[in-house]
Amino acid sequence: MKLVNESGKVSLKDMTFPELREWMTEIGEKRFRADQLFRRLYQGAVTPQEITEFSGALRSRLESVGDMTAVSMLRKQVSKDGTRKYLFGVRDGLAIESVFMKYKYGNTACISSQAGCRMGCAFCASGIGGLERNLTAGEMADQIVAMERDTGERIGHIVVMGTGEPFDNYDQLLRFIEIVHDERGLNIGMRNITVSTCGILKRIKQFAGDMPSVNLAISLHAPDDELRRKIMPVAKGYEMSELLEACRYHEEKTHRRTTFEYALMKGVNDSDEHAVKLASLLKGMLCHVNLIPLNYVEEKGLRGTERKNAEHFAEILDSRGIEVTIRRELGSDISAACGQLRLENRG
Ligand code: SF4
Repeated sequence: MKLVNESGKVSLKDMTFPELREWMTEIGEKRFRADQLFRRLYQGAVTPQEITEFSGALRSRLESVGDMTAVSMLRKQVSKDGTRKYLFGVRDGLAIESVFMKYKYGNTACISSQAGCRMGCAFCASGIGGLERNLTAGEMADQIVAMERDTGERIGHIVVMGTGEPFDNYDQLLRFIEIVHDERGLNIGMRNITVSTCGILKRIKQFAGDMPSVNLAISLHAPDDELRRKIMPVAKGYEMSELLEACRYHEEKTHRRTTFEYALMKGVNDSDEHAVKLASLLKGMLCHVNLIPLNYVEEKGLRGTERKNAEHFAEILDSRGIEVTIRRELGSDISAACGQLRLENRG
């Protein structure tokens, strides 16, 4: 895929390695130059002038026909615990958010797959304003390169859990995974990538065949249809039983454990009864529940459950044999809810 941007240049990060190699031969260069270029793109080179192994003529040529970056940093917030929240600009003036997090097992990037989102979940600031557009694979991959460049640290894990519904941008998502997995570039293992969906059934099944080693996370947030439909419009299109059937299909095909994300909202989905229902819903599945204490979303008037109540909710699940964790609160000193930086930027 050759994506030519507004300035008439080819967006180099949108190409997989085989495509980049083909393009290099099309412009009359040796194939091995593509290998060098691909490596340097993902080592964080911003302009061809940094690629000193290329001749001056080739550097100038690349400068005039290709674009090496797809995102630029607009703003960043740095937490004492090392978490960094970024607001990146993309070429047409839109802004997207990404987060860099430090975990014991390594650095993790949470990236956006769309500018805005059309799914309209009640608790989510990222979806306010609807979908602006799908991001390209290069815009997704470049969020990681830009964070590595800024932190000077290697990122080993990716969660596609920022703004957007990744399965609503399916083709670019697959291309993105191919690009970041390439050993010449970021070389991120498939098993270190997690894609989070609000539950697009047909894609869950398709993804099991297309990317069987990538982890699947489901934004569940409610233990029954009635409540889930109130807080997640996407759930109006199917029954909870169909969603779980798609997850079981994914589990059988991939033998991978599904993560169910459950944002605890005070007085909405955090009672004992909700916990008991959730445990019986997931019983027997190869799964793990990740409880997320929701950040306050002013525009939505929703508050997160207090820590001790979250622990009690977790105990109910645990006592019924459901594997559960409460997401560690990272960056609590920069704890703007996801989507907030973007909203502020829109003014
Ligand atoms: S939670 Fe995810 S799917 Fe739902 S509106 Fe927000 S970004 Fe979209």
